[in-house]
Amino acid sequence: MKTDLELVSIGSELLSGRTLNRHAQTLGAALTAIGLRLSRDTTIPDEIEIIQAVVREAFERVDIVVVSGGLGPTSDDITRDALAGLFGCRIVTSPTALNALHKRLNDRGRTVTPAAERMALILEGAETLLNSVGAAPGERFSPESGKILFILPGPPAEFVAVLNDHVIPYLKDQFKEAVPLELRVLIVEGIGEADIVTRLEEAEFQCLEASIGFYPGSGKVEIRLTAPREQLAALNDAERTLRKLLHDCLI
Ligand code: ATP
Repeated sequence: MKTDLELVSIGSELLSGRTLNRHAQTLGAALTAIGLRLSRDTTIPDEIEIIQAVVREAFERVDIVVVSGGLGPTSDDITRDALAGLFGCRIVTSPTALNALHKRLNDRGRTVTPAAERMALILEGAETLLNSVGAAPGERFSPESGKILFILPGPPAEFVAVLNDHVIPYLKDQFKEAVPLELRVLIVEGIGEADIVTRLEEAEFQCLEASIGFYPGSGKVEIRLTAPREQLAALNDAERTLRKLLHDCLI
C-alpha cells in the first residue's frame, strides 16, 4: 500500500471564505508524525458530481483517501449519498452509531428525532468509527481490495477526535514499518531568502539526499531540512554546512 494519502475537504463554506479549512494541517501533521505523507488536499463544494469525480480521481493516485464534512442531517449534507452513488452501495443504519446517538441525546435530555437518526447512517459494509465528541460517526469503507476510504465529520473537534481515536491507530497498525522523516530546523534573522540563496550558491551548497524548505515570516526565515533515516549522515552534513554558512544570522 502506498504511504501517500489524500484528503478531500467537502464544504461550500470552505470555498466561500466563511470557514478556514483546518483539516489539511491537522491530518498532515498527524501523518508526518507516523511516517506517512499527505500528498494532496482538495477542497470542494457540497455538490454530488464534484465529490464523486474528485474521490474517483484521488483513488487513481493513492490507496487511502480521507473525506471530511457533509455528514450531518441537513439538506446540504450530501457526502454519504455521493459516495454511495459512486461505489454503488446502499446506505444503512449503523446499530453501534444509533445506540451511541440515543445515549448521547438521552444523557442531554434531548429527543431523538428522525433527522437526528440520519446521523447514524453509514455506507453498507463500512466500519463505524464512533465519535467521542459529537453525534455523527466516522466510517472506514473499502471500495475495493487494497483501497480504504475514511469518512470523517467536518467540525474540527470531531475530525480530530475520530482521527486520533480510530484513523491514526489503524494506519499505525497497517504501516508498522513506516518511519517519520528526520528533521532539522534552523532559524535565521536579518537576512532575506534571496541573500540566503546567494550565499548557498556562492558556496556551491548542495543537499541531494535531503529536502530543504525556506519559510519566511516575522523578519526571520525558518529553514527545514528533512531526509529519511537512511540518509542521516547526509542530513547531518547538510545541517553542519548550513550552520557554518549562515553562522552570523542564526538565532
Ligand atoms: P455535522 O454532523 O455537525 O453537520 P458534518 O460532518 O456534516 O457535521 P459539516 O456540516 O460539513 O460537517 O460542517 C459542520 C461544521 O464544521 C461547519 O461549521 C463547518 O464549517 C465546519 N467544518 C467542516 N469542514 C471543516 C474544515 N475542513 N475545517 C474547518 N471547519 C470545518
